[in-house]
Amino acid sequence: MSADGRDRDPGANGTDPDPGAAGPGGAAAAPAMPAAMVGDVVAGDLVEVRPGVRRLTAPNPGMMTGPGTNCYLIGTEAVTVVDPGPDVPEHVDAIVEAGAGRIRWIALTHTHVDHWPATPALAAATGAEVVAFDSRDGLEVDRTVGAGDVVGEGDAAVAVVPTPGHASNHLCFWDAGRGLLFTGDHVMSGSTVVIAPPDGDMAAYLDSLARVRALGAEALAPAHGPLITDPDAYVGHYIDHRLAREAAVAAALAEVGPAGADTEAIVEAVYVDVHPMLHPVARFSVWAHLRKLADEGRARGIDPDDPDTTWTPA
Ligand SMILES: [Zn+2]
Repeated sequence: MSADGRDRDPGANGTDPDPGAAGPGGAAAAPAMPAAMVGDVVAGDLVEVRPGVRRLTAPNPGMMTGPGTNCYLIGTEAVTVVDPGPDVPEHVDAIVEAGAGRIRWIALTHTHVDHWPATPALAAATGAEVVAFDSRDGLEVDRTVGAGDVVGEGDAAVAVVPTPGHASNHLCFWDAGRGLLFTGDHVMSGSTVVIAPPDGDMAAYLDSLARVRALGAEALAPAHGPLITDPDAYVGHYIDHRLAREAAVAAALAEVGPAGADTEAIVEAVYVDVHPMLHPVARFSVWAHLRKLADEGRARGIDPDDPDTTWTPA
């Protein structure tokens, strides 16, 4: 992608369609997305991204998954698998083969459908323990984990970092020895992340971004796209971008005044530079911002749980 992050493939990492896009009139533009991402990601490739850490990308490329969901294999003597991905037999076979009899833990960042469905087949093939924040959306875990817990042993050990926002049960996994954070969908390469209420929560998301930034990781290993090798600048951009977008939403709301506007009208006012085809996705983020503003007493929604409700400035 280019230095300003604007010419990425619109089909890639199809997440929030506004990486650094300008607000109304460009006044609220977020800083450019830093471009320090390493290498192409190709479905089916097994790549050692750091000593003892391999990435196997699942064969599910698409609008919402970019090149495909990254499955990571961490460790040498014993292996922790993060996010096995979709239940595609060849993909499960490839994970089992790469694990060479050493897979002992399967850790899930969250329960969206491109991350976990290979888990039962992989657990059956390996006997590995399944670990996540909770059993949900069809995933059954052997052990639930939260802040302070560790998954795996030796050079397969990762610490659990709760990161609600994209999903309420989202976890990142911190490999302190390698300075590597496995970010799932909390941070992605080349695009911002969809925050879709009610399970998605913008205020929680911003808190989680600050928590991740404070770790001082050397690199981020996302579930979609290549490694991110300038975590501080990249996450800083994410935060600035969200705050700029929030300011634009608040400004659009002030503009409509007491008459109010529905979420769609705010989307049209804020996402002036984004193709209307992407507005249905943008709508989730705007709704999430409006809910956050309402929680802070800066906006009022007739029914904040209804995406089509009418909003007014508080
Ligand atoms: Zn997700």
